[in-house]
Amino acid sequence: MVFANRTIGDAMPAYDAVVIGSGYGGGVAASRLARMGLRVAILEQGRLWRPGDFPITAKARRKTTRLTGRAPRLGDPTGLYYLSVGKGLTVFGASGLGGGSLINAGVVLRPDLNRLRKAGWPEAVIGDGLLREGLSRAETMLGVAPVPHPQRFAKYAGMRRAAEAVGCKVQLPPMTISHRPGPNAAGVMQYACKYCGDCWSGCNVGAKNTVGITYIADAVDHGATVLCESRVQMISKAANGWAVVVQDLSGENACAPRRIEAPIVVLAAGTLGTTELLLRAQEHGLKLSTKLGENFSANGDDLVIASGLDEPVNAIATGFPSQAPRGAATVGPHSMALIDLGDEDGPLWIHDGTMLTVMAGLAPVKNLLQLNITRARKLLKDGIYGNEMSRTQLLYVVAHDDASGRLKLQNDRVIVDWPGYSSAPERQRAEQKVKALIEGVGGVFSPNPFTMRAFGGNRIIAHPLGGCGMGDTVENGVVAHDGRVFDPAKGPTGVHDGLYVCDGAAAPSAIGVSPLLTITALAERAMILVAERLQRKLDVTSAPLRPLRDAAM
Ligand SMILES: Cc1cc2nc3c(=O)[nH]c(=O)nc-3n(C[C@H](O)[C@H](O)[C@H](O)COP(=O)(O)OP(=O)(O)OC[C@H]3O[C@@H](n4cnc5c(N)ncnc54)[C@H](O)[C@@H]3O)c2cc1C
Repeated sequence: MVFANRTIGDAMPAYDAVVIGSGYGGGVAASRLARMGLRVAILEQGRLWRPGDFPITAKARRKTTRLTGRAPRLGDPTGLYYLSVGKGLTVFGASGLGGGSLINAGVVLRPDLNRLRKAGWPEAVIGDGLLREGLSRAETMLGVAPVPHPQRFAKYAGMRRAAEAVGCKVQLPPMTISHRPGPNAAGVMQYACKYCGDCWSGCNVGAKNTVGITYIADAVDHGATVLCESRVQMISKAANGWAVVVQDLSGENACAPRRIEAPIVVLAAGTLGTTELLLRAQEHGLKLSTKLGENFSANGDDLVIASGLDEPVNAIATGFPSQAPRGAATVGPHSMALIDLGDEDGPLWIHDGTMLTVMAGLAPVKNLLQLNITRARKLLKDGIYGNEMSRTQLLYVVAHDDASGRLKLQNDRVIVDWPGYSSAPERQRAEQKVKALIEGVGGVFSPNPFTMRAFGGNRIIAHPLGGCGMGDTVENGVVAHDGRVFDPAKGPTGVHDGLYVCDGAAAPSAIGVSPLLTITALAERAMILVAERLQRKLDVTSAPLRPLRDAAM
């Protein structure tokens, strides 16, 4: 086993460091603090998901989906997928050991540091060289590489045609996917991608280089304890640093909430989770910046659909084991190619995507709702792997926004408040450019399907950022450049000793490219500075301590 499956009932009353959440930020913090020789506990609300565990049917996916935010709270609190319904936006994300890495596309892009400087990121982050060091460390640990021989996939050829039609070149970004079997940087055995396109519902192959089998495996090898189904409810000051109150979500034999203390607490519960914990702590008297909850960004995210394309792109995921009829074409990873449509108005990246079977099955419903009866009939007759749907493709847009969203507590849950996101001029501009791109290859553009009233009316996004943004002082930020949380009682640059934010919440603006690498690198940078402050050695180069383990065991 890569991990013993422990829950909060197994916890000790105190550790040297507690890491809340196990996505990119939490994974880095846990691995690096454990490598510094500290006793680390990782508290994760979700479950342990191994390759082979991920749901492949619509029913199983629905069973592990949780609704939160303004929606009535429905579903298993340890469920893999969550939809946090806000005002104007719905955030889609994952809970489980590895956080968003369990279901993301794994596209890895370096940020444009000059852009971040102009967007007001602290000069220390941009200029001291440690973020660059963090970027390389993250790329090494996550084992990133582009998809080899992409020409074999119709989806890639479709992106190339679309790019050429508007005078651009298609790009092949590095990805967190393994293409050959073998051990990863943490010594965990992984398998070669089967190109089934199901990356974003969870990789059942063991080819995705998730945080759980890279950074967290490394943390465990250096003595960290992983406690799943353990939801932190509250953080507060304690005699020796910080106390966290943890709810046991492990089912029938769950114990009463536990209190754990540690001099170091790293908040890495994701943009929504971390901001929620700090907003709740503020309500209970912890002194924090008045900026808390502000500058929420969706990273200019959008999702659009191209249909009726001039040639098949075979972009309906088949899954592993395959759900498609025998002989169906190999799809490729969920995302593998990029078109850069950015200009002086800001970045605009178009990513290819696959549709899960459940989404593809909704296509006739959408057409019926739009009274497009002939097309709905044709789609039903053809089936999801038929000719019509083979010319249909989901595309992701990553662009710019002004980070004017807000996160607030409502009924003790964080919600996104950004009614103006969809109507912002940047969204309209981006839509026009993507529409022209799709029409250039004979396709029909459909806007984000979830903006239809029948599907809830909110745009769905997957890159939530901010709420606890970095700043130079407590007047313009919630945390300092190194992730330490500002304490307004200690003057403009005073901090709460031992309390850190290390995840997407610390981004003070849109990043302008897919965010996972920047979030990981920021956490690497914060940990380099922790080691300096604690005068502890942090060696990230030593080889894995344990013999090979299998990602699927
Ligand atoms: C479908 C999809 C595709 C994506 N594709 C890409 C891509 O290709 N490239 C890219 O760069 N980015 C992509 N992203 C975004 C990327 O995955 C996220 O930006 C990233 O995971 C954020 O990392 P994080 O450390 O901030 O938090 P997360 O990864 O969100 O992890 C937070 C963890 O904290 C846990 N948690 C929350 N609250 C609590 C609590 N109170 N107690 C204990 N645990 C808690 C959660 O369960 C979760 O596991 C995608 C996201 C999605 C959903």
